[in-house]
Amino acid sequence: MLTCKKTYRDIPFAHRQHRHDGHCALIHGHNWGITLTFACTETDSNGFVVDFGKLKYLKAWINEHLDHACLFNADDTEAEHLLCNAGHLFKAYILPNSACEGIAQHLHGIFDQMVRAETNNRAWITEIEINEDSKNSATYRP
Ligand SMILES: [Zn+2]
Repeated sequence: MLTCKKTYRDIPFAHRQHRHDGHCALIHGHNWGITLTFACTETDSNGFVVDFGKLKYLKAWINEHLDHACLFNADDTEAEHLLCNAGHLFKAYILPNSACEGIAQHLHGIFDQMVRAETNNRAWITEIEINEDSKNSATYRP
């Protein structure tokens, strides 16, 4: 198996952990990094795992859904109230878990399918690392 990595850095978005007993329960932002590890057993005709110049669909997805967004956990009932009354203030993105770990797992489900579709199942995503600012990170590897 061959792998290559692509990192998207300094993507600003907010989140909160509504069950947390500390300040993580408050809506707050980070500059996020997303590192995707692509894998294949057979390269393309250029010898690439994936062509870095042809990953614009991933960046476009990030820009559309995450950039300047506020991520809420799907079971965060306060978020529902907030979005009903002040939804115009948020570019909301709802997912099962907006922690680093949850974002990594969630994005794998989306990006892996996109990469497989773009490469006719020749390549896939074998790992996603999410960086919350420069100090904290989590990795999902199915
Ligand atoms: Zn945070």
